[in-house]
Amino acid sequence: ESVVNRIAAGEIIQRPSNALKELIENSLDAGATNIQILIKEGGLKLLQILDNGHGIRREDMAIVCERFTTSKLRNFEDLLHIGTYGFRGEALASISHVAHLTITTKTADSNCAYRACYSDGKLVPPKPGVAAEPKACAGNIGTQITAEDLFYNVPTRRKALKNPNEEYARILDVVNRYAIHNAGVGFSCKKQGSTQADVNTLSTASTLDNIRQIYGSTTSELLEFGKTFRKLEFRVNGYISNPNYNLKKMVFLLFINHRAVESSLLKKTIESVYTTYLPKNTHPFVYLSLEINPENVDVNVHPTKREVRFLNEEEIITAVGDAIQERLVGANS
Ligand code: ADP
Ligand code: MG
Repeated sequence: ESVVNRIAAGEIIQRPSNALKELIENSLDAGATNIQILIKEGGLKLLQILDNGHGIRREDMAIVCERFTTSKLRNFEDLLHIGTYGFRGEALASISHVAHLTITTKTADSNCAYRACYSDGKLVPPKPGVAAEPKACAGNIGTQITAEDLFYNVPTRRKALKNPNEEYARILDVVNRYAIHNAGVGFSCKKQGSTQADVNTLSTASTLDNIRQIYGSTTSELLEFGKTFRKLEFRVNGYISNPNYNLKKMVFLLFINHRAVESSLLKKTIESVYTTYLPKNTHPFVYLSLEINPENVDVNVHPTKREVRFLNEEEIITAVGDAIQERLVGANS
């Protein structure tokens, strides 16, 4: 049974950046305004995230890593509305199957923090001969999650991920995206042992500040963009580059219902809108947040598949492309 679980977990968590994305979303769900990430060997040796969210109550600590245990669904109605998040309550469980997981957490109404270790969905003793239960310790309100030796028990996966630098680049990409999409939350990310953070945004910074900081000062040439489509039941907003600004490679940051996703079709559509405005072989910067009626987002696509599917996909993509075209025309005149 544990082998089956491990295989399932390996499909959900394919690489360190997938795990980190889930952990960041949990911190955001917990209301964190500060998220600090620490990485060793591209997240394969150590993936640690510290937040100042509401924490986990001691009595819940035994079950947070069990599959499909989630505090975020209360009834069948909720299940129908989970939308982009698809399957829920699988992230921590999955990570506990493929890494050594430690959680230290404190809620506002507890006198102390608690620390617990997990394996295969269950509490395990921190060392032999000690009880498998949360242990009281010092700590601030919030949660620290540490995943060590990712895929230690999945040799094939481990072998496939032999370049820590590439994994770290993917991690930074995830952190950058979430930092931009979550103005009001300060993010930092660094390698263990390094004094300098590779991402460092302030909770007081605006979306535009964050884009500038992360993608360089030239992004001052950005257009604010937003439109609501009642019939298609969605809204889009974000920042897109004006025709005076261009890149060697397109930067496309897409969020659907606040989850970072990919849509190659939407990306292609937007690129082709820009071709009439940009010099040959140059590309735009586009950050878009789509809010779609959750009932229209396909829940059968697994949440970790970055390509999403949604109802009226073609119409929505065409509408976004047209709206961008309109915005660029407006900016030019
Ligand atoms: P889900 O997010 O779908 O509920 P997860 O496996 O990602 O499932 O997390 C399981 C549960 O653990 C969450 O529902 C939440 O109660 C708790 N949890 C996880 N991470 C945090 C965190 N950073 N702060 C507070 N609670 C957390
Ligand atoms: Mg989660």
